[in-house]
Amino acid sequence: MSTDNKKSRCSRISGFYNMPLEERLKIVKEWAQLSDDEIAMLSNFGNLDRKIAETMIENVVGAMSYPFAVAVNFKINGKDYLIPMVLEEPSVVAAASNAARMLREGEGISAEASGQLMLGQVYMMKVPSPYYASMEILKHKNELLDIANSTNRTLLKVGGGAKDIEVKVIETRRGMAIVINLIVDVVDAMGANTVNTMAEAIAPYLERLVGGEARLRIVSNYAIYRLVRAWVRVAPENIGGREIAEKIVDASAIAEADPFRAVTHNKGILNGIIAVALATAQDHRAIEAGAHAYAARFGIYKPLSRWDLDSNGYLVGFMEIPLQVGIVGGAVKTHPIAQIALKIMGIKTAKELAEIMAAVGLAQNFAALRALVTTGIQSGHMKLHAKNLAIPAGAKGELIEIIASQMIKDGKISFDYAKQLLEKYEKSLN
Ligand code: NAD
Repeated sequence: MSTDNKKSRCSRISGFYNMPLEERLKIVKEWAQLSDDEIAMLSNFGNLDRKIAETMIENVVGAMSYPFAVAVNFKINGKDYLIPMVLEEPSVVAAASNAARMLREGEGISAEASGQLMLGQVYMMKVPSPYYASMEILKHKNELLDIANSTNRTLLKVGGGAKDIEVKVIETRRGMAIVINLIVDVVDAMGANTVNTMAEAIAPYLERLVGGEARLRIVSNYAIYRLVRAWVRVAPENIGGREIAEKIVDASAIAEADPFRAVTHNKGILNGIIAVALATAQDHRAIEAGAHAYAARFGIYKPLSRWDLDSNGYLVGFMEIPLQVGIVGGAVKTHPIAQIALKIMGIKTAKELAEIMAAVGLAQNFAALRALVTTGIQSGHMKLHAKNLAIPAGAKGELIEIIASQMIKDGKISFDYAKQLLEKYEKSLN
């Protein structure tokens, strides 16, 4: 595949997934005209065994490393933690550690997960008399729970399993549908696969029972029965004084009043939560989908946290978020680094992981609000980002540090300025 025939090349590649990795790499190499060095870099699996990578997803041609950092200073539910974080954005880990240092005084951050209940859903259409049918379904709740539980004896052994059923009728633009929600205690699993299997298992029985057709049989990522609450109370002198505390409350109020700000407010919370999710190989798409849905549960997008001053003038923060996370199943057990991350935190249950993640989210939120109402977000952020600008501008080796430091010193941190400095430096060498 040469550059000349680039226009005519075809992405329809039969049996790509069945090819040995080397063959897939060869195709990608030719497709994109990658150099041998680029191919060597792409196919370097680092700390992920190649065989494991190939069992995780399809069509694997390589692996991509992200930095793994540890945030310090966290005290959650009276216990000290080091928090593993994986992400690409500068200043998140520093901000988390800094916030945790300020919030650790007194009780530190508290967090409590409500439970590990997930919803498996069956959507039935074309059911005759759907309201009557839904009563019929409820009458057979025990049989349905038995069928669901017959799919997973291991879950039953650890105290979980399908516990209850909810039924409702909804009107879609294609007619009435019955929704059967299977409520499943997934204990230490994220639970999507577990619950999907159960939803698929009860569907044929439902069709025989009330007629119609079971269309969708899958978990809901709107994990409203898996809420985690995190809260903190801190003396104003620990966070820079009363004025800063007041301004943080103002920032919280603004987010409550304007969805444009609320989205960014929640993004700051997720900066912390998703970094821990990545370090522990969680399904972060599920967490984000659930979090945003919960933020919009009143019909208007709202912040997931709220900051106030209590009667003693202490700053109090509270957050509520659905978190679907596990310490068994999915990639958690297969990715060796996820196991190390759990070990660093000393985590033994999914509940504890959810509580830690919520606490980190609240601390991250505090860090962002405090930065916003004081120096602004850019000063800390851009200092760390300076190196990220120096590299694409062309700096290599020790020049990265030199250019980054010069930008910080001059108070001009931008891609353009990095290029200017680099040119100047290179000229001075010639
Ligand atoms: P899984 O299928 O590996 O199941 C975990 C299993 O571990 C349980 O079913 C149970 O039999 C067993 N187990 C052993 N000890 C346990 C304990 N203490 N607590 C609970 N279970 C225990 O994993 P899962 O958590 O069911 O599914 C997670 C995966 O599903 C993720 O990889 C996710 O990306 C994927 N997924 C997500 C969606 C979605 O979110 N919409 C859809 C499909 C798949």
